[in-house]
Amino acid sequence: MVYLVKEVYPYIPCQSGCSNCCVDSGLPRTSALEWKHIYTYLRDKAPDEVRQTVLRQNEAMHRQQLDLFLQEQARIERPESDLPLPAFGCKRCPFLIDDRCSVYPVRPAICRGFGYFTWRPRPQAESQVFACQMAADTLLEGLQLRQQPQAMLPVWNAISDKLYALNAVQGQGVIATLPLWLLAHTGPEGELLPELNLQPDFQALLNAPR
Ligand code: SF4
Ligand code: SF4
Repeated sequence: MVYLVKEVYPYIPCQSGCSNCCVDSGLPRTSALEWKHIYTYLRDKAPDEVRQTVLRQNEAMHRQQLDLFLQEQARIERPESDLPLPAFGCKRCPFLIDDRCSVYPVRPAICRGFGYFTWRPRPQAESQVFACQMAADTLLEGLQLRQQPQAMLPVWNAISDKLYALNAVQGQGVIATLPLWLLAHTGPEGELLPELNLQPDFQALLNAPR
């Protein structure tokens, strides 16, 4: 769908090396099904240096924010609640290295879709462009220049609903932010744990020996 949207709206500015969204909103919600692929890629295919950099970045940026990630986890697990967004001091994705995604072939679906979809925060709310402000503004300018009154973009909610339904059936149903998945697979020496765990006890990370 992203390729189709790109064909119709070639002025959407997302491109390789543009990584502001990975810096400003780099805590993507990731299903267990997706984490399985990311973890396996990181363990078995990524060069040692990349793996170590990812783990080191996550420790440095996010271990100290663990309580905030657990608050975010409560928001994910209780979507109907009005829990406030935690005040993260750093939202940079630990997988971003030199402005490139180090797990690009297996990045979460939300990272693939960002910039090319619309979404509805609540069923009754109006659709919004599912992109950074710059991408949304550029799309709008492109439409105005071509005298197109509106864009017709696919709705992200339909994709995420399907993904989470698959995750409930074929995965273990868990959804978490990407840095929290990584913290749950980091050993006491900062190493990647050798076994995949699709149902980690995230709360237990508070007492994990460091
Ligand atoms: S959403 Fe914005 S920051 Fe992200 S790739 Fe597109 S233009 Fe760049
Ligand atoms: S997984 Fe890759 S594309 Fe997604 S936020 Fe992280 S660095 Fe960016």
